[in-house]
Amino acid sequence: MPVREAPDRLIWLDGALVPWAQATVHILSHSHARGSLVFDFMSIHETPRGPAIFRLADHVARFLTSAELVGLPLGRSAEELEAACLEAVRANPGSAVVKLQAFLPSVEIDVVPVDDHVAVAAAAFHPRNDVLAHKGVPVPDPPATVRIWLEKERRQRRPDIMHPHAKVAANYASPMAAKWSARRRGYDEVLLVDEQGFVAEGPTTNFFLADGEGTLRTPPEESVLLGVTRRSILALAEHQGIPVVEAPVGSQDLFEAAEAFLTGTSAGVWPIASVDDQPIGSDPPGPISRALGRHFREVVAGKDPAFEHWLRYVNG
Ligand code: PMP
Repeated sequence: MPVREAPDRLIWLDGALVPWAQATVHILSHSHARGSLVFDFMSIHETPRGPAIFRLADHVARFLTSAELVGLPLGRSAEELEAACLEAVRANPGSAVVKLQAFLPSVEIDVVPVDDHVAVAAAAFHPRNDVLAHKGVPVPDPPATVRIWLEKERRQRRPDIMHPHAKVAANYASPMAAKWSARRRGYDEVLLVDEQGFVAEGPTTNFFLADGEGTLRTPPEESVLLGVTRRSILALAEHQGIPVVEAPVGSQDLFEAAEAFLTGTSAGVWPIASVDDQPIGSDPPGPISRALGRHFREVVAGKDPAFEHWLRYVNG
């Protein structure tokens, strides 16, 4: 299939900048066939000091954890990986995201590869301008508030998947099935449950609710990916004096919540309008979602000195 996207973009691949269309692997490669690719995904923001990557060091640390959980012999230090991301962003002006990947490009027969060279790629680009605009069909922006379907089929979170802390391609097959099924039912997003039936997270987002007393609650670390936005929102809530608990969320808690929202690198703070067609709160987005969303947007844009240490300026 000819590659139509991003004709001008360069991808950092094992130390060299290669044209986007040439950054390919064989269809029988281990990563493609076994879902063994690990990745992380960061946002880039315009600030008064030029473009900045949000929490680069934290994303790279999570990437190293993912590789370790999957057992990929990465052979790259955190410093090298950070430098790769920065180089990719500098080589691709106007990018909004940078995706770091580690994968086994070799064609393999067994689950354990004979050739265990782990390739590393850092791709900086603008999702809409470089990718979605080339799809040949209009792709709408996500809605301002999200209509949720609560996963009920329990195909998710079988105990034999990789640990939820690993951001590995294989872990996204089950969320994809659930979200596609939610989309076919007319919903924007799906909320996945853990083995006990507690609310866990969205396919690419973490979940928060605010109860009637104004306490924020998010599912505990064991059952979710350790979202960088999740951690940032916990810190901003503390800064604003909003009480927070990390505790299991049952579906009843969800339906009785005063407010609820999703968080993620792409989503930011994404208020939930309804779950299974039942409205959440009286008039979403509620005041806590709005205040945290506003503060988060200020922080990523470099407008709050108290959190400027989360920004890694691309040009020094
Ligand atoms: N959960 C999962 C499963 C995800 O893939 C993501 C996206 N990385 C998140 C939560 C949100 O994490 P972050 O805030 O770091 O984007």
